Amino acid sequence: MDFSTRCLHAGYEPGNKGPRQIPIYQNTTWYFDSSQQMAELFDLQAAGYFYTRLGNPTNDAVAARLADLEGGVAAVLTSSGQAASFFSVFNICQAGDHLVAASHIYGGTYNLFAVTLPKMGIEVTFVDPTLPLEELKKAIRPTTKCVFGETLSNPSLQVLDIEKFAELAHGSGVPLIVDNTFPTPANCRPFEWGADIVVHSTTKYLDGHAAQLGGVVIDSGNFDWLAQADKFPGLTTPDDSYHGLVYAEQFGKGAYITKMVAQLLRDLGSTAAPQNAFLLGMNIESLPLRMQRHIESAQKIAEWLEGNAQVEWVRFPGLSADGENALAQKYFDHAGGSGVISFALAGSRDDAVTFMDALRVAKIATHVADARTCVLHPASTTHRQLSDEQLVDAGVSPTMVRISVGLEDADDLIADLQQALDAVAAA
Ligand SMILES: *Cc1c(COP(=O)(O)O)cnc(C)c1O
Repeated sequence: MDFSTRCLHAGYEPGNKGPRQIPIYQNTTWYFDSSQQMAELFDLQAAGYFYTRLGNPTNDAVAARLADLEGGVAAVLTSSGQAASFFSVFNICQAGDHLVAASHIYGGTYNLFAVTLPKMGIEVTFVDPTLPLEELKKAIRPTTKCVFGETLSNPSLQVLDIEKFAELAHGSGVPLIVDNTFPTPANCRPFEWGADIVVHSTTKYLDGHAAQLGGVVIDSGNFDWLAQADKFPGLTTPDDSYHGLVYAEQFGKGAYITKMVAQLLRDLGSTAAPQNAFLLGMNIESLPLRMQRHIESAQKIAEWLEGNAQVEWVRFPGLSADGENALAQKYFDHAGGSGVISFALAGSRDDAVTFMDALRVAKIATHVADARTCVLHPASTTHRQLSDEQLVDAGVSPTMVRISVGLEDADDLIADLQQALDAVAAA
């Protein structure tokens, strides 16, 4: 069935007289008639629910919907996108291991990899993703357990060459994990290009209403763990905490996600709240319509900014002059990628502040991917402690503004931007 139909129906089939919408199972606990029935669940011998930290029907229905939309075989929701990124690598890496990550990734993921994983004994090498494959291969070590990248990077709007990264990973006998938060499966399906595992911050477009914080890890089922048994003992040797069960043998294509639930949700507890899963599942129903509108409006606004004398430069993959346009054409259904644009005003840091304060419809927020338009001026907020010179070194120009185009009428947004530019000219 078409993607739009699956957004409405995948993952949940109501029975006769059953609830039409995915129901919220707000309970933590399930009752049993016999100890034996519960023991089978504890031993992973039977499927079922006993405690929400390890499994909940609302969460599972929404995870199944997302697995279907990405073309994967299994998925698990987490309490945030950060938890999803962490789980995706920690499920197959332990102290002494190493991973290779593209340097153009979300700041939170960068901190996780650069600061927190090393504290746990996991080393990370960041690579410039634009380097040729032969150069990238130099980062691989015998201890490397995965390669990580972001399909459309937040906030730098660089497009990952997924096929090149899949070749890098598979040539080294390890899976490629990609964060597909910005394009969403409505606009890019990384499994079709060789990625093995996809993660999302569902906080962004998948929810799209700034109403819930969440994440998801989705497995394509394509990576053969047993063929690389020495590299992935956690999946291919007995788990002492489950009576010697071997995940890759017992669960086949479901091994990676089953291990994640059985060990990481059990021990670390970053479980999604069922109420949040419910909101996410409902909001996914309109994902294709929303993404189309976000991208079309962003394209119109980017073209308008490009032709404006008060604007120094515009970065949006949907512009034919954009350096990422060729990769965006290849990997995305709509080259724009998402509704996020970055641009720099001609003028000073103070001019950018005047511009931001004059906006009426677009609101200042650190968030992106919301139904309502959000703008951020890094030089006066997230990067405000840096001098103009330090900003340039950090790759952030003093007048750079990031705009996440919402679902408002595009002409209303253009009028809002115009009156803010007028305020700068009059200042
Ligand atoms: C926001 C974001 C994250 C982190 O997600 P949270 O839900 O905020 O924890 C990860 N990756 C990308 C690309 C993001 O934009």
